[in-house]
Amino acid sequence: MVDCRSSNMSGKLLLIACLCFSMLLKAQEYEHSYSIFTNSSMPEDHFFSHTSYTGGSTIESNNGKIPVSETFFHTPDNALELRYRSHADGKWDATVYRSGKRGMDHFEKPAFLSLWVFSLSETMTENDLPLIRLMSEDSSLSSGLSIVTLNANEWQRMLIPLDLFGNIDRDHPENTIGIVFSQQVNADAELHTLYVDDIEFMAEKPAHSIILKPEIKDAKGYAMHVDINWPQITDPNVHLVKIYRSCDGSIYQPAGIQQPFINRFADFTGETGKNYSYLITFLNSSYEESEFSEPVSASTRVMSNDELLTMVQETSFRYYWEGSEATSGMARENIPGRHNMVATGASGFGIMALIVGTERGFISREESVERFLKILRFLEGAQKFHGAFPHFMDGPSGKVEPFFGLRDNGADLVETSFLMEGILAARQYFSRDDEQERLIRQKITGIWEGVEYDWFRRYRDGDYLFWHWSPDQGWIIDHRLIGWNETMVVYLLAIASPTHPVPASMYYTGWASQGHIAQTYRSRWGQSTDGDMYTNGNTYYGITLDVGVNNGGPLFFTHYSYLAYDPHFITDRYTNYFVNNQNIAKINYRYCLNNPKGFKGYGEDGWGLTASDGPFDYSADEPVIRQDHGKLTPTGAISSFPYTPEESMKALKNYYFNYGHFLWGEYGFRDAFSLTANWCSEIYMGLNQAPMTVMIENYRTGLIWKLFMQDPEIQEGLRKLEAE
Ligand code: CA
Repeated sequence: MVDCRSSNMSGKLLLIACLCFSMLLKAQEYEHSYSIFTNSSMPEDHFFSHTSYTGGSTIESNNGKIPVSETFFHTPDNALELRYRSHADGKWDATVYRSGKRGMDHFEKPAFLSLWVFSLSETMTENDLPLIRLMSEDSSLSSGLSIVTLNANEWQRMLIPLDLFGNIDRDHPENTIGIVFSQQVNADAELHTLYVDDIEFMAEKPAHSIILKPEIKDAKGYAMHVDINWPQITDPNVHLVKIYRSCDGSIYQPAGIQQPFINRFADFTGETGKNYSYLITFLNSSYEESEFSEPVSASTRVMSNDELLTMVQETSFRYYWEGSEATSGMARENIPGRHNMVATGASGFGIMALIVGTERGFISREESVERFLKILRFLEGAQKFHGAFPHFMDGPSGKVEPFFGLRDNGADLVETSFLMEGILAARQYFSRDDEQERLIRQKITGIWEGVEYDWFRRYRDGDYLFWHWSPDQGWIIDHRLIGWNETMVVYLLAIASPTHPVPASMYYTGWASQGHIAQTYRSRWGQSTDGDMYTNGNTYYGITLDVGVNNGGPLFFTHYSYLAYDPHFITDRYTNYFVNNQNIAKINYRYCLNNPKGFKGYGEDGWGLTASDGPFDYSADEPVIRQDHGKLTPTGAISSFPYTPEESMKALKNYYFNYGHFLWGEYGFRDAFSLTANWCSEIYMGLNQAPMTVMIENYRTGLIWKLFMQDPEIQEGLRKLEAE
């Protein structure tokens, strides 16, 4: 699809515009320190690096990347390993690129480059050590600086004033995209090894010692990992949290680090039935360490399939519970990412995950009621356009935040509908006859009835609903909602609206239209005539597909509209959508089994192409050659549980047991990974975590489906559709 969930040209243009606007909002956002390297997310080599050499000079590499050491590091789990020989008739370079994270675009103004270096048993002098330069976004290099001397067997910090590199734009640290290590002029032709870690820009502020005493609240063992958490950190001097593990209760080894704004760490040890003890410390910006916490212990244990499902549900749920924006209680777009910005659709999905979490006892009903009231109060006060919400808002103020560009500064009907899916399920869930739950239902009704679905027809008697509307630019984005894709729920809700309904006939004249406009739209984004008339009828990998563009598209098409709207009950003139979704999931599975591009890790337990974070950008992957980049996305297979329970369980177990050491973290599975590229995403995404919690629940008990479908207004909408 187009809009935000694509990497096509219009998406890129929107992104460029949004980056300009983000500067205007700079004051509001949390400012991250600008880090170029802390750890490689994968062992062996660092994806965001490059090595080259000529003549008699050499630098060791893995597939042209800088190797990483898990033996010598300053912060666990690893450091970069530079092993080089500088020769007079050659040269070598090793470049480390910063891995940009979505939305992480607000930084402290830096004054220094800080990096940590280590040499094993060799005191090194200027000629033995590399020259350091900074790389700008146009690939130009700063002037070079030398390290004068380095003692053996000791991690030493280099703190270099940025001005020494020449004209570095300190107001825009993001204009520096990497650091280059290269050989000195006076080459000694000897083999040297240098470990480098924690390359970051530092603000000009004194490093205060940390008075806050570290404390672990809780440690809990699972099949192959232990989850520890601590109270939210309020001391701004905490730069990192360092976690130590012991197998015998006396000798502790560094096990990991965590950002100060996340108060949890998942230690994937890869062993079942073992007892571990943990300590934590806090590090300030000079890496001076606080005192240790008291130790806390837990054991890993054998877990049943049922327990594994609950584990995945609970960890993904935490993204919306612990990871939410503080003022609004709403979901962030991704973590880490912008701190204050909340995403409307992801919050709708998160609301369903909160219901599952309440029902499964991850939180109490009282805690849940309190959170829902917070969210609903926020939504009542938030900026709306004809009752519809923007895609992104600033949590503290409730104002629209045009993250995708200045044209997207108004209503987003698709995101709004994902939110309505969530709150309408909640209206059924909070059914008790007490003051607070009555208040929840009343507020939901007010928000739902406020959405002017009929306004988004744009024209009197218009056949299509439109995705966006801007208060100052009107229908400038001009995007009709035409199926089949993830937006079916928009038409279903518009037909069901008690206050601003659209005629049920629009399902066939708009959403499932077989007219020229719709046909052209489908064949453009599908780059295929298969399914361009809404109906398809072709057979892919032995499976006949009734409805869908191309061979069905990315798996999120089968998830977003159907988290609450039970597809068993949606049968139109062409198909039943449970069956059709199931067929799309099976096509995706069989494509990955077939693996036409020969990517590593694809197979019966490695499948599920859908939209997710990628090594360079977000991409909506699907089971066709041109949209398959070797990237596997856990939510693809796992959120398909109701359609493909056996295949989804195999993927879940494979991802946890075999890839957990890089893929598993505090909010469950990280967004995506590629074994072919040796890359793993460092973020979790709001659109991808909740569908796992919710769809596993729909598979296990049907909870969210039942709640939503019992709503009389939804039932009435369905009756209207069936009468067409
Ligand atoms: Ca490190």
